[in-house]
Amino acid sequence: MLLRFLGTGTSTGTPMIGCDCPVCRSTDPRDARCRMCVAVESAAGGRIVVDTPPEFRLLAVKAGLAHMDAVAITHCHMDHVAGFDDVRRFNTLAGGRPLPCYGPAGALEALRAVFPYITDRPGPDGLFRPMIRFTPVAGAFTAGGMSIAPVPVFHPPVETCGYIFECDGRRAAHIPDCHEIPASSMALLREKRLDVLSLNCLRDKPHPTHLTLGRALAYAEEIGARETYFVHMSHSLPHAATEARLPPHVHLAYDGLEVAP
Ligand SMILES: [Zn+2]
Ligand SMILES: [Zn+2]
Ligand SMILES: [Zn+2]
Repeated sequence: MLLRFLGTGTSTGTPMIGCDCPVCRSTDPRDARCRMCVAVESAAGGRIVVDTPPEFRLLAVKAGLAHMDAVAITHCHMDHVAGFDDVRRFNTLAGGRPLPCYGPAGALEALRAVFPYITDRPGPDGLFRPMIRFTPVAGAFTAGGMSIAPVPVFHPPVETCGYIFECDGRRAAHIPDCHEIPASSMALLREKRLDVLSLNCLRDKPHPTHLTLGRALAYAEEIGARETYFVHMSHSLPHAATEARLPPHVHLAYDGLEVAP
């Protein structure tokens, strides 16, 4: 199993437009964060892409992605879905076949309202459009040879989930946006005995829809993954200085990081 963190920033990205704070002006490449996008890959060549942010095309080109088995959406906020139209290139690379898109029912409904022209077949006018089989998920499913389970989380006001991936004898969970993890999802995450947890961590100051670093650390301890990587950071968390505040098995992810649990 390989987890590829293509984008790791909060909704504004860093550097943020018009900001001259130390992180937005930083020369440390780990402080430059595109919006959230993660690819999960199996040794057999399976690949699931989680979320399609505004930079999706640039991230896919930079990471050399020339194939995906499916796309999984965590929720319909624009920092996670604005690049969804670029999935069409993966239809072409798949020989013109439609691709499955998994997500919570409410998230897929909202996504279809944003992109009402997307269906599972080519446009009648011959235009170059994504061909998607929207597949709402309630329980575990299989895609790209991996077993995948949605993990419902609270990220008000929209229906949101994270995902647990299992392949090659490894287990990883990815929860990019979250304000609270319900008890049933905590039980699921604990019982999976995760090798890797990727978890929302916005900043130190409380926020109505995201985890603070303190609460993310508390969840990470309770879930007990072998290694935890924080994602979706704002410009108030400089990479090097924040990493130095974390326990040895907890890290800040950064764009381009690859983790092989
Ligand atoms: Zn987000
Ligand atoms: Zn800034
Ligand atoms: Zn969000």
